[in-house]
Amino acid sequence: MQAARAHGGGLHRPDRRDPLGRLIFCTCRRYVKANGTDGSGQPQRVHPGSCAEWPRPTYPAATWLEPLAAQVQQIVLDDVTIATVVDALTTTAPRRDKLARKRLERRRREAAEAFAARRVTMSQFAAQIASLEEQQRTLEAVEPATEPSVPSAAAVAYLKDLPALWRAADEAARADLLAAIYPRVEVRGAEFIAVTLTPEAEAHGLALALPESVCVARPAGIEPAT
Ligand SMILES: [Zn+2]
Repeated sequence: MQAARAHGGGLHRPDRRDPLGRLIFCTCRRYVKANGTDGSGQPQRVHPGSCAEWPRPTYPAATWLEPLAAQVQQIVLDDVTIATVVDALTTTAPRRDKLARKRLERRRREAAEAFAARRVTMSQFAAQIASLEEQQRTLEAVEPATEPSVPSAAAVAYLKDLPALWRAADEAARADLLAAIYPRVEVRGAEFIAVTLTPEAEAHGLALALPESVCVARPAGIEPAT
């Protein structure tokens, strides 16, 4: 996976910024670049080089910007979603971790029992234990990342604010917002293939609050990444 890191941005930046800067990728993993404006002053983007996947060279930036903007503004924050976000941020990550630990414990016990019952040789048993130890180390190495990094109350406040924040934002602030939410958006021409969220957006429960598909006066909406 190509990872385009979301950037925090600094205080000093040009006033005019491209809201889709380093965001839109073709399925061939090439970045769809800004390409000036058309006759009516609308920003355009072009796929570099030739690509069998790409229907035509240039598209208006609005092709992708409008559905993404709509998705951010259409966050669903009813009671059920809030409860789901709170639940996910307070319990899901530790529970997943606990399950993995329990599974390793069980396999360790099973390996010991198999060895005691002479169903496996000493060297097979040693290999099994070494493999389980390795998995344990991997589990412990990733553990900090599974901790919820955002308190659920803060996440809910963030989700509530996001649509208003978007509406009030200028172009540069919208560019920052999009970069903070989406590390990359994979497209094939006007068609959305996969929309990825940044770890920060995931930590705020955005995956649960964003509408799964968006249609803005066109049949091809954003489909959940598969
Ligand atoms: Zn391509």
